[in-house]
Amino acid sequence: MTTDPTPGTLDASNPLAVASTLPYELPDFTAIRVEHYLPAIRAGMAEQRAEVAAIAADDSPAGVENVLDAFERTGVLLRRAATPFFTVLAADASPALEAIEEEVAPELAAHRDAIYLDAALHGRFVALAEAADAGDVALDEDQQWLLTTVLKDFRRAGVSLGDDEQARLRAINARLTSLEAAFGRRLLAGANAASVFVDDVARLDGLAADTIAGMAAAAESRGRAGEYLVEMQLPTQQGLLASLTDRDLREQVQQASERRGATGDEHDTREIVLETARLRAERAALLGYPHHAAYVAEGATAGTTSAVSAMLGRLAPAAVRNARAEAADLARHAGADDASAVRASDWAFLAEQVRNERFALDDATLRPYLELERVVHQGVFEAATRLYGVTFAERDDLVGYHPGNRVFEVFDADGSGLGLFVADWYTREAKRGGAWMNNLVDQNTLLGEQPVVVNNLNIVAPPAGEPTLLRWDEVITLFHEFGHALHGLFSHVRYPSQSGTNVPRDFVEFPSQVNEMWAWDPQILASYAVHHETGEPMPAAWVEAMLASRQFNEGFATTEYLAAAILDQAWHLLAAEDVPAGVEDVVPFEVAALEDAGVAFAPVPPRYRTTYFNHVFGGGYAAAYYSYIWSEVLDADSVQWFTENGGLRRENGDLFRARLLARGGSVDPMEAFRDLRGREPEIAPLLARRGLDA
Ligand SMILES: [Zn+2]
Repeated sequence: MTTDPTPGTLDASNPLAVASTLPYELPDFTAIRVEHYLPAIRAGMAEQRAEVAAIAADDSPAGVENVLDAFERTGVLLRRAATPFFTVLAADASPALEAIEEEVAPELAAHRDAIYLDAALHGRFVALAEAADAGDVALDEDQQWLLTTVLKDFRRAGVSLGDDEQARLRAINARLTSLEAAFGRRLLAGANAASVFVDDVARLDGLAADTIAGMAAAAESRGRAGEYLVEMQLPTQQGLLASLTDRDLREQVQQASERRGATGDEHDTREIVLETARLRAERAALLGYPHHAAYVAEGATAGTTSAVSAMLGRLAPAAVRNARAEAADLARHAGADDASAVRASDWAFLAEQVRNERFALDDATLRPYLELERVVHQGVFEAATRLYGVTFAERDDLVGYHPGNRVFEVFDADGSGLGLFVADWYTREAKRGGAWMNNLVDQNTLLGEQPVVVNNLNIVAPPAGEPTLLRWDEVITLFHEFGHALHGLFSHVRYPSQSGTNVPRDFVEFPSQVNEMWAWDPQILASYAVHHETGEPMPAAWVEAMLASRQFNEGFATTEYLAAAILDQAWHLLAAEDVPAGVEDVVPFEVAALEDAGVAFAPVPPRYRTTYFNHVFGGGYAAAYYSYIWSEVLDADSVQWFTENGGLRRENGDLFRARLLARGGSVDPMEAFRDLRGREPEIAPLLARRGLDA
């Protein structure tokens, strides 16, 4: 007699085979090696398939325990393996990890399909819904919401399609997953290739000494000692352009940035863009939607593409009007009478000068007052302590996935342990651009897990022994990402799939954006903005000037954002047959889309052009980049709520936590918002904040 190997069996020596025994089940990165991921992820998929098959085959009456609870208990091994894998892949990639991703990404897509296209499994959820409707089964609020969303997930996955259509759907999903991964890889390699080497230090005039030292070290690490490396950041705007006085070098960097992905070499992404747009449209049509954007909007809080378009359309004219006025202002400053003298590569530099002149503030002036450790402890953490009563203790005994990680234990107001916060602040070649938060462990009471969350930024490390001095936008990013971290840490839900930031895309940025307000709070600012050498607080006049300068350059910022959001919509409002045919059509399509929407203004290029729009072609923000401004409506309205109620007070923090953050995705998110605000969201606070209400 032979026995088949048990599905999901994994070599016991694999550290991912069992739950980590470290505090909060922090993955044991000292034991996990690259070769452990693939077998563990595959065993995890096999195990979850077996678990799901058991639920589907159960012929006892459908109830909470044998459907909802049972379903949420599946996939434990898969999560345990895939979560650290994707964390490391994003933050500390290597060719070996990328090879695994290439192999496993289509398998994971197929795995998800296997679950959400399983008619028998779907039947169990339908049976539960019928039992609930008949009054035979009582559901709590979170269970009702889980049932509603899972049934919607099944429908949107195509569970009711015929076999041939389902087969096509599976093929599309697998291909799209591969394309998205390939886009990300090509972009990272392309960004490294687009980096600009400078051999004459005189051309770096305007940059701070520590920045130049960091650029020298970066060039040396690429085998070009004696030169200086301008590394490419993800967005169109490159941070250094605000300070570089060499106009030709600025233009060179700008063009290198904007050409990414359209270089005609092995880093060109245009073919991927076209195939991706075509397949997304085809999939939407299979599922009964006119285009991918409609599919996405239905799964978000926006609901429809007309709601999205109405929002973008209401903002665009006001934003461009402001940007044009700002361009004229910058031109006058530069001594030109024609606004067209201001090129995109000049904008940040001139804006920085005008900001400095008008508000006596520039990055170089502010940076000595914005030292990383102090901003974190006396700013980001301090705000959380005052609002929510939580405290932080660094755990030097715990290690993350990279030697530069910092691990903090977070304690609730009553002293009980809440979770872990892992910080990974510095940029490196192996890290993706941008800033993000993710969970290593999702809080949930069903499995008794507490949260472990990660924040990633791309701050340029100073030379060894020097303090890390931040730009103002980096301070805001720290607060922003920590807002996501709090959403994960304060999660208090039953089910893993409803934990923390597991909410729709156009809602998830809202709590993180709200958290940015504390960077500006006078009490918090006084606490962290202190000169790193003299200990002098930032002069009160500067603080006032900073507050006064908040609307400065908002025409630019809003326009570059809206242009990117409109591009994203334009690509995904197409039916498959309307997607441009050849790679040479990609840039003209982009130009036409911006012109049609009235946001084509040469000095303000989109924050991301199509060919390096990683949010959209490399990841999960397809047709959802509008989410940031959608969330900002909720954000500005909530900031007004905090302000109306006295700002930085425990009572306010506790309410925001209880009504919003703690509930994660366990209720309709808009209902959580209404519970907080007492009404539907209003757009006026956002318009006022951005100076668009004139
Ligand atoms: Zn965010």
